[in-house]
Amino acid sequence: MVDLHNQYLKIKSETDAAIQDVLDQGYYINGAPVHKFSENLATYLNVAHVIPCANGTDALQIALMALELQPGDEVITSPFTFVATAEVIALLKLKPVFVDIDPDTYLIDVNKIEAAITPRTRCIIPVHLFGQIANMEKINEIAQRHNLYVVEDNAQAIGADYTFANGNQVKAGTIGHIGCTSFYPSKNLGCYGDGGALMTNDGKLAEKIKVICNHGSKQKYYHEEIGVNSRLDSIQAGILDIKLKHLDQYITERQRAAEYYDRHLSDIDGIQIPVRTKHSTHVFHQYTLFVDKDRDRLKDSLQESGIPSMVYYPVPLHVQAAYTGDGYKAGDFPHSEKAARHVLSLPMHTELSDEMLGYICTKIREAFI
Ligand SMILES: *Cc1c(COP(=O)(O)O)cnc(C)c1O
Repeated sequence: MVDLHNQYLKIKSETDAAIQDVLDQGYYINGAPVHKFSENLATYLNVAHVIPCANGTDALQIALMALELQPGDEVITSPFTFVATAEVIALLKLKPVFVDIDPDTYLIDVNKIEAAITPRTRCIIPVHLFGQIANMEKINEIAQRHNLYVVEDNAQAIGADYTFANGNQVKAGTIGHIGCTSFYPSKNLGCYGDGGALMTNDGKLAEKIKVICNHGSKQKYYHEEIGVNSRLDSIQAGILDIKLKHLDQYITERQRAAEYYDRHLSDIDGIQIPVRTKHSTHVFHQYTLFVDKDRDRLKDSLQESGIPSMVYYPVPLHVQAAYTGDGYKAGDFPHSEKAARHVLSLPMHTELSDEMLGYICTKIREAFI
């Protein structure tokens, strides 16, 4: 599904030097690379503040803590996402309120958000799933009208561009009150361990986020509030600073692979290639097919040819054992449930040659004959 080793070999000398630098300096925590990378990422995203943390799940949790949501407050999100999005909501004793997805893009259906808003609703977490940005113009408009916060789960779409109706362009993760991302190795901007970050244009929120990440402390051993311990270490920051310089190239390589798949798969009856949104570029964290029938048989037959594929995600969150407590049941979100039964993600990374792509497409075509 990914080929991180060959991607590493292409940047081996600069990456090894960055790691060696941290070892030579000895500042493993909060060293210079952490600050340098945060500043460079802020410049790349054109956002005022980037606050690094330990992983993407922490970023989401810290965002909700910074907004001072109270137990029982409701947070609207998609049930068709990685569990972390809802997990942090529940962990903070907030209530996840699910809204079904658009069946074409798998992004939250903005036309269904308002019906889910109650007097307890405080926040919306759109998930920029598979590498496309949710309809943020509409989400921000709804949030403003109902006085809600917007936290973007941008673990999968870093580097994607969003275009507003007036032509203004912004980067994913900088459009709501807070953006959250993950640097898990297989993400589009991944390190060689765990990492994450929050981004915001709000100076007060940025201050609060920094304090929460650091045990609720501004001054060492004085704690103003309850925080967490969530840091990006210097080695990972050094690696990310190198990879950030290549991010646009990595995105182009993913888009090139996606176009190859499009060209060779779009005419096959029984599969639907990824549907693009109008307002966002697609950075293809995943290239996800909709398979009309026998998805699992296609998966097995690819496996027999040595081709990996994955189902992201096989069980929507509203029917997961841990999240059914709020009275959700099968049938509540039919588009999410249908997606879970029919999606199949193909190998997608920066190291796919035409030869590999050709082989994958040929085997998919054969499976449909
Ligand atoms: C990866 C991911 C996360 C969590 O990131 P971690 O760094 O693994 O904690 C959250 N949300 C989505 C949509 C993700 O894909």
